[in-house]
Amino acid sequence: MELKTDISQIPRYSGDISIFWFRRDLRIEDNTAFTEALRSNQTVLPIFIFDSCILNELPKNDARVSFIHKNLAQLKKRLKDNGSDILCLAGDPLTIWPKLTEHYTIKSVYTNKDYEPYAIDRDRKIQELLKEDNIAFHCYKDQVIFEQNDILKGNKEPYTVFTPYKNKWLDNYKSLSPLTISSPNLENLIKLTFPSLSLKDIGFKESSIAVKDYNLSQLSQYGAKRDFPSADMGSYLGPHLRFGTLGIRQLIQEIKEEDAVFLSELIWREFFMQILYHFPQVVTENFRSKYNGIQWRNNKDEFKLWCQGKTGYPMVDAGMRQLNKTGYMHNRVRMVTAGFLCKHLLIDWRWGETYFAEKLLDYELSSNNGNWQWAAGTGCDAAPYFRIFNPHSQLKKFDKDFQYVRKWITEFDSLEYPDPMVDHKMARERALEAYKSGIQND
Ligand code: FAD
Repeated sequence: MELKTDISQIPRYSGDISIFWFRRDLRIEDNTAFTEALRSNQTVLPIFIFDSCILNELPKNDARVSFIHKNLAQLKKRLKDNGSDILCLAGDPLTIWPKLTEHYTIKSVYTNKDYEPYAIDRDRKIQELLKEDNIAFHCYKDQVIFEQNDILKGNKEPYTVFTPYKNKWLDNYKSLSPLTISSPNLENLIKLTFPSLSLKDIGFKESSIAVKDYNLSQLSQYGAKRDFPSADMGSYLGPHLRFGTLGIRQLIQEIKEEDAVFLSELIWREFFMQILYHFPQVVTENFRSKYNGIQWRNNKDEFKLWCQGKTGYPMVDAGMRQLNKTGYMHNRVRMVTAGFLCKHLLIDWRWGETYFAEKLLDYELSSNNGNWQWAAGTGCDAAPYFRIFNPHSQLKKFDKDFQYVRKWITEFDSLEYPDPMVDHKMARERALEAYKSGIQND
């Protein structure tokens, strides 16, 4: 992707400014760095960069890009209502920042922290680049309640088991309450307007799949019903937390004491984020290297059947079809589909992880990786490898009236629906054997 905006053509500003860089925090309220930038008494220019290093990897009708674009348009409107604007740019941030520093007299840059390996590396390079011009780079914790070093074991090492992590998280949380929710004073915003970037300008088109609004009205039933896919108890918060259209503090404040199961899920999110931060090798490697010897079968035709939802196992197929059609899959079904790929088909978890990453509207590197490694048995705090889901029993237990599978598999009751592509008993034994013989001693 070429840089679409010629920065020399955008309006200049005669005085000193601070820049606030929106990334995965597309909101005004409860936005830590934005509030801090506006508090600094400097004129603040808000910017967003469609990062070509990320976008170049995505399909041109990616629904997440449409979602970001739509939310930026809403932000633009809010800022314009306040006499200001957001400067949207597209390209490689490492090319854009030097042009911005030439065009404006920037005193400082404010942004919220991002803990993914690519973002950490990018931000380090940008901080160095800004330092050459004596520009301060201020990064704030924002997308989590507790970041990488906030919850550590007594010996200052990161937790790799969830339950003690969660207990410490809850203890520390008590001492935080009440949480501070920032509401920025927009007076210091720059009084300029900028051209808009259309989806077409950045090489994309509108997706036919839309991100749903989140729904917190069912939380009282979440604990009891969340495992039944037809009950559809999910909050659909994923993409909103990923792109920051809702702040985590604002969300947590709405959770009541009896919503402990739901809170626990949000703690899993932070658990996997700190795992990714401390063990970035998990992006490509097994968390537990003793599983490195597993001989994956990696049959491409079988992988295709799994992707298409044509395995003959209804819960797997319904899940994959829900994913392909909507960009969402119920959590219990994600566990079943992932387990089936790794164990029944003996296909490397990285193949499944990559497919989910492309399709999920709520794709989050840390959660996707952590959960895939959990399903494969290779991750931290993962299920032991010999616990192999029986997709038939899962169906009986969680969708006994076939409501969910009938919704997604239209030919479910007809002869067209395929027989199971692999026998469960045989596949189970084959997986046990492959894992057993692949395990290497530490
Ligand atoms: P809810 O059930 O309403 O939960 C609320 C929020 O809690 C979620 O939005 C999410 O932020 C967090 N959460 C819930 N469960 C988990 C979990 N197990 N791990 C981490 N965070 C959790 N979640 C993602 O956000 N992105 C992913 O890419 C992702 N990939 C997954 C892959 C596999 C194989 C599996 C088994 C799970 C994956 N999950 C992922 C976790 C979980 O399935 C989704 O967060 C959840 O289904 C999203 O729906 P929801 O927003 O309605 O969640």
